[in-house]
Amino acid sequence: MLTLKSVHSYYGRLHVLKGISLHVRQGEIVALLGANGAGKTTTLKTISGLLKPRKGAIEFLGEDISRLGAEYIVGRGIAHVPEGRRVFSTLSVAANLELGAFSRHDRQAVQTDLDELQDRFPILRQRAKQAAGTLSGGEQQIVAMARALMARPKLLLLDEPSMGLAPRLVQQIFEVISGLKETGTTILLIEQNARAALKVAHQ
Ligand code: ATP
Repeated sequence: MLTLKSVHSYYGRLHVLKGISLHVRQGEIVALLGANGAGKTTTLKTISGLLKPRKGAIEFLGEDISRLGAEYIVGRGIAHVPEGRRVFSTLSVAANLELGAFSRHDRQAVQTDLDELQDRFPILRQRAKQAAGTLSGGEQQIVAMARALMARPKLLLLDEPSMGLAPRLVQQIFEVISGLKETGTTILLIEQNARAALKVAHQ
């Protein structure tokens, strides 16, 4: 589904990715492990188009997406949940979820997906009107993941979803990831918690 071929990325003159190659097959969960500063976040940003690779190719479903803008890459079916639970903090939980579906035009299916997510994560319904920034860290992580799922992604990029969370919440987040595995969602996951990540990952 996704192939990176010898990808090089830079921040200005700082050469961070030096020829990374990897592949993710449809339906797989792939965990990307590495030391702090190794370039894991940079890899996800390069895939989702937030950073342009200077060399190499990124193919998604047979198409070279390495020169496409981030908004087109979302449209192709790649959703990115960035590090640090970036919700739109002044917007309500419901508005955050609606924004996740901004590129979709199938309004009825959007509503069905919203209902399903709210059934799966009751907090999304209970706190629909609350400003997302006032939720706890773990709750915000659920909003961030649900917002990405509202795009009905073919591939989900998760950047350290358990970071900074209490053990009980880490367990909940991994239950969510296992649940997504059951539904066949393809996931590229970055985690410091290597043991938990390798438990759910295929590669
Ligand atoms: P961590 O596990 O600590 O989150 P990581 O593997 O995700 O690390 P990256 O965030 O990809 O690492 O960073 C890789 C390198 O690029 C680091 O040396 C970092 O300091 C540098 N870097 C990251 N973002 C920028 C930026 N916007 N401008 C300049 N350098 C950056």
